[in-house]
Amino acid sequence: FFVTFEGGDGSGKSTQTSRLTSSLVSAGRRVVRTREPGGTPMAETLRGLVLDHGHGPVDARTEALLYSTARASHVAQVIRPALQRGDVVVCDRFVDSSLAYQGVGRGLGLEAVAELNRFASGGLVPDLTVLLDVSAEVGRSRRRNGPGQEDRLESEPDDFHESIRQAFLSLAAASPERYVVLDAGRPQEDLAQEILELVLRRSGG
Ligand code: C5P
Repeated sequence: FFVTFEGGDGSGKSTQTSRLTSSLVSAGRRVVRTREPGGTPMAETLRGLVLDHGHGPVDARTEALLYSTARASHVAQVIRPALQRGDVVVCDRFVDSSLAYQGVGRGLGLEAVAELNRFASGGLVPDLTVLLDVSAEVGRSRRRNGPGQEDRLESEPDDFHESIRQAFLSLAAASPERYVVLDAGRPQEDLAQEILELVLRRSGG
């Protein structure tokens, strides 16, 4: 069973992926928790290349290709083998992040980015995607206060984050059978409980 978390920066994805993983392990499930961009040594290096501005600004196509290359490695080496073993895979960001950030945010268009990622992932689609929907305001305050901000798009203006938010909401509306949209401003505890119940129910546990 493959569950992905999506949402803007500061939506609480890393908190929720971590809580879900612990709860599933306590419930006796075998779980692989992973993240994108990253998840394999090569993919983490590619993440560093895109997010480390020491190389200067990255143009949109290069960025999309590097993220999709990282994804190909991650799917082949980590995600597919885990799914074949029957593990639950909990992944912080996946193809939908590329659709929102590179397709909409960087203006490459949804179709081009979707095609690139169908090739990269071999057509892998999550069984469930949890969208943690965050307003520009809440996202902004969490980005400022949270740890590990050095490699994030923190300096982007609110309207950039709002366009990413709208992109995720339309992706969710286009695939209602796969997506669950939750208000990221709710208490973490509540969200964690709802997400756990959802995953247990849908994964047949
Ligand atoms: O989720 P995480 O904080 O690890 O993402 C790192 C940065 O990469 C964030 O600023 C995120 O917005 C950005 N990103 C992106 N395109 C993607 C995935 C992440 O611009 N496809």
